Amino acid sequence: MTIRFFNTYTRRLEDFVPLETGVVRMYNCGPTVYDFAHIGNFRSFLMADLLRRFLEWKGFAVRQVMNLTDVGHLTDDDVDRMEVGSGREKKTAWEIADFYAEAFLEDSRRLGLAKAWENPRATRHIPEMIELNRKLVEKGLAYFSKDSLYFEVQKFPGYGRLSGNTLDELEAGARVEVRSEKRDPRDFALWKADPRHQMKWESPWGVGFPGWHVECSAMSMKYLGETLDIHTGGEDNIFPHHDCEIAQSEGATGRPFVRHWLHARFLLVGGEKMSKSLGNFYTVRDLAAAGYEGRAIRWALLDGHYRQPANFAVEGKGEAARFVSLESAAGSLRTLDNLATKLRFAAAPGADPELPEILAKARREFDEALSDDLDISRARRAIFELAGELNRRDVPRTDAAVALSLVREFDAVLGFLPAAEAELPAEVRELVLAREAARKDRNWSLADELRARIRERGYVVEDTPRGPVWKKA
Ligand code: AMP
Ligand code: ZN
Repeated sequence: MTIRFFNTYTRRLEDFVPLETGVVRMYNCGPTVYDFAHIGNFRSFLMADLLRRFLEWKGFAVRQVMNLTDVGHLTDDDVDRMEVGSGREKKTAWEIADFYAEAFLEDSRRLGLAKAWENPRATRHIPEMIELNRKLVEKGLAYFSKDSLYFEVQKFPGYGRLSGNTLDELEAGARVEVRSEKRDPRDFALWKADPRHQMKWESPWGVGFPGWHVECSAMSMKYLGETLDIHTGGEDNIFPHHDCEIAQSEGATGRPFVRHWLHARFLLVGGEKMSKSLGNFYTVRDLAAAGYEGRAIRWALLDGHYRQPANFAVEGKGEAARFVSLESAAGSLRTLDNLATKLRFAAAPGADPELPEILAKARREFDEALSDDLDISRARRAIFELAGELNRRDVPRTDAAVALSLVREFDAVLGFLPAAEAELPAEVRELVLAREAARKDRNWSLADELRARIRERGYVVEDTPRGPVWKKA
């Protein structure tokens, strides 16, 4: 089946065929580790994770690189977020970086993000950035002025093509920023000399620190080569970040930098972008403390197409807040848990002649949906339709094993089943099976005794028309 993704660069759906057969080289812009990431940030990272898991399911080896931005690059308003973190917590910028990098990886695990092939940290790749800058100087694309090395936008005619901003429009937008040392107001910094900065390094342009954009160009090309198959980010990365990455990378190598650009739209709360500055954000920790499982947060954040803004529904405020999206996600997960349980404990003899086609159809639809620019809603529909079919039947034991392995395949892509350690322990599973046998024999006293022993081990079983359903007590 052909895989198609919408390419931000060409603004079209395009067939996806990696440069090297069977291998996908993918770079995801990662977090700035100056504070806990909020779940809006995680929507972008989860889109990358879904993409990676789907491509692996399709049989590709995915070289996934997600950077950790731990150098305090200056934003447009000249704030260095690492130093902001440092001032806030009375720690050095280096301590802030270590702490929040670890926190990010911990939150990622909680949300079931597969471990990336590499998570390069900017602070550990300064020589690569200096080298790239040196090439740009050599090629006449960069110049030093006052205290900074700048990329000269005029020299790269394709600048702004990704975002669709023409040079003229960009010029009008940049006019507010008066920096007389630049040859053109749109030129952006590749290096800034600043010996008072906490994080600083020696360079041919003085002691200082690299520009933000050059970080991603240098690290992506180091691990993945000059041309990447896929590059992702949130919609706000398109301009200037990704347009600048293209200019630097292609300027230095003379080769196409990225073949498919994919961007996730924002997570909104009450119609507004979830963001630190608006204060309308939640962290994974906040929600875990409120009792939500990582997989429910994951399910809610992956809801809806990645090219549509998603709404995180909250009713009420503060302590009384109700997380409507999470409650609904938890409901969906219960349905899927019950399905998995039913299949695990299916005991009927024989075979259901209709099941092979039902399973094949579900698999086909799931594949078609995700191959079509990651249409997750359609993929989920295929799973719930399958669940409906299976719930209507007394599934024979042999068919159930096949169905369960299909559910596990879906889970490998979407990540909805509880993590392995949360699965029913073997001894409890034996007790549940023994209790089912006792019930079949109408030996109610034994069944009750077994229920009590299951309870002692921290689980409750309930009998449903579809079979036993268990949960943690
Ligand atoms: P930052 O840590 O600020 O560099 O942001 C990390 C990533 O999160 C970037 O790719 C942003 O585009 C993305 N992002 C920020 N806010 C949101 C949001 N509300 N919804 C989705 N993605 C976001
Ligand atoms: Zn980046």
